[in-house]
Order: sequence, then C-alpha cells, then structure tokens
Amino acid sequence: MIQGEQSEIKSSLQKIENLLLKNEETGILIFEFHKTLPVQFFICDADLFGNLVFTQSGNEAFVEAFQEKYAIDFSAECFADEQEIFEAAGIQSIPFYARNQEKIFEQDWEQIISTGDIKGIIHTHSTWSDGKNTIEEMARACKQKGFEYLVMSDHSVSSFYANGLTVDRIMKQQEEIDRLNQLLFPFKIFKSIECDILNNGDLDYDTQVLASFDLVIASVHQNLKMTEEKAMERLLAAIANPHTTILGHPTGRLLLSRKEYPINHQLIIDACKKHEVAIEINANPRRLDMDWQWIPYAMEQQVKLSINPDAHSISGMDDIRYGILCAQKGLLTPSQNVSSMNLQEFEHFVAKKKSIIR
Ligand SMILES: [Zn+2]
Ligand SMILES: [Zn+2]
Repeated sequence: MIQGEQSEIKSSLQKIENLLLKNEETGILIFEFHKTLPVQFFICDADLFGNLVFTQSGNEAFVEAFQEKYAIDFSAECFADEQEIFEAAGIQSIPFYARNQEKIFEQDWEQIISTGDIKGIIHTHSTWSDGKNTIEEMARACKQKGFEYLVMSDHSVSSFYANGLTVDRIMKQQEEIDRLNQLLFPFKIFKSIECDILNNGDLDYDTQVLASFDLVIASVHQNLKMTEEKAMERLLAAIANPHTTILGHPTGRLLLSRKEYPINHQLIIDACKKHEVAIEINANPRRLDMDWQWIPYAMEQQVKLSINPDAHSISGMDDIRYGILCAQKGLLTPSQNVSSMNLQEFEHFVAKKKSIIR
C-alpha cells in the first residue's frame, strides 16, 4: 500500500463531523467518535481484504490456532474475500462471535441461539415497584411483540428504595395478574418476585409467601461489598433454598461503574446443578451478568441459563438482544435457555421446581 493513499483516506475521513484523529500507524487510522467511541480504520489492498477481515475479527490465539490447524499462512497467501479462507480450510464459515478463543469450533452454527429463539420475557418490573409501566402495559406490549408469556418479578420488601412489595401488596398484585390473565388468554403472566438475598443468605419472605409465586428470582441488591467467602455463603444459601428458581445477576457488576463482588463461578454452577436452579444471563447492557465465559461450563454441567432483560419499561424488553449477543459468544443453544421455552414447556419447568418444595 502506498503512503499517499493513507493520507488521502485520512483527509477525507477528517471531514466527517465529530470524528477526531487520535493516532495513526502504517495501515491503521485511529479515531474517536463524539469524544467517546474509538473507531479504527484498517487500510489494505483489495486482494488482501479477506486476510484483514479475518485477522482483525478474531483474537490472536484464535487466528494463530486457525493458521496452524488448516496450514494457512496469511503472510504468504492472499484472500480478497474472507469466505475464500474457509473454503481453503474446507470448513463452514465460523461466525465472528465464535472467534475469541484458541479452540476452533466446527459445528452447526444454526444451532446457536438467535433472537427468534426467545419465546417469553422473564424478569420484569412494573409500577408496583420501580418500573415505568403498569403490568397491563408490559403484558400487552410483550404479547404484541410476539412473546407467549411474561414473568412479572417486582422487587421484594427489603428493596424499600425500589418500592419493594410488602406481603399485603403481593396479594393485591397477584389478584391483578389473575384478572389480566383472564383478559389476555392464551398469553400468560407468571407471578414472580425478584427476591432479595438477605445478608445471611435467607430470602426476603417466609415460606408461605414464597410459595404463592409461580417462580422466584433470587438476587443480591444490598451489602454488595463482600469478600468471596461472604458472597459465596449468601449465594449458596439462596441456591439451596427450595423456593429459588433462577439466580439473578450472579455477581452484581455494573459495567464501567461497579466492580462485581468476587465469587467462585464453578462452585456456584455446581450448586445450581445440584438444586436445579437456573442462572440468569442478565441482558441489561450495564450488567451482562453472568459473564458469557462461564456459559460453556454451565452447559457442560447441564445447568439451564436464562436470558432475561430485567426490563423496567416496555422498551427495556428489547435489551434481550444484548443477552443474545453474549450468549452467542458462549455458544449457548436454545435448548439450554429457559426463556426459549414455549409457554407449555415453561409451565412444566416452573411446576417441576415447585414439586420439589412439596
Ligand atoms: Zn436486580
Ligand atoms: Zn430486576
């Protein structure tokens, strides 16, 4: 590539508003968009475009392992189109999301979860706690988006700052859900709660109240500064509680603002297997918790995962797409994801867990 071409490209890019040049090397122009988003432009000759796309879309370990496994040398061979690389290797194209580790996966990519595989919206909040929409608004929107069911899981009583539900209000909310279910049939709203895991690992209500829910999502919201020992004590107690159906956002992290409390993921996943508890993949883009890197181990242990939007409004339901992107990186299949169950399968899933309690 000729240096003159790079400066030509650079000067035309510099005409774009809010795109500021930060740095450059031979073949790379590094910009910042709106003072926040880093944008890199890679420049190459047309006959090397395939090489560039391939080497930039996977991490180093992946690219090296690929070269070795299929005896392809990117420094010696030219590919104008990325597809030619997979043809030379004699394999099906590997999606971008799966190019992040040393292991080279060859599988039927159609099996990996995608947006159309979500059948129900699990983990939502309404105006009964800190949500922006009523249960009816949430349910109608959910139905209209083509989902078969909604799991309404407002905050529990200890989350007083989020208007958590007292026992009295739970009973009233459940009456409202019964009424709406008659109205919206065959769409179904499930009675749930995002139940605080208290400091000692107990759930936030007595067993009688917990038994009134179709399912319970157990999450930590308070006293988040913990040692691993303390965090594990709380989480393991909550997982062992027979009322817990799903473990909500397991590490409590808020990306770019709050570090996760330390946990031993492997032991948490093992405990979830033992007690038949599913683990949430919280799809809120600030959480993305559990981290995708633990999905393969959970799948190996046959622990169910659940991509949930933790929606506090109608538009919040659309966050599910971020959870899908994470789940794809972990190569999750719909058969291992709770929110991919249709209504009948989901009813069976929650009934099975409740049968353990009796
Ligand atoms: Zn929560
Ligand atoms: Zn929530």
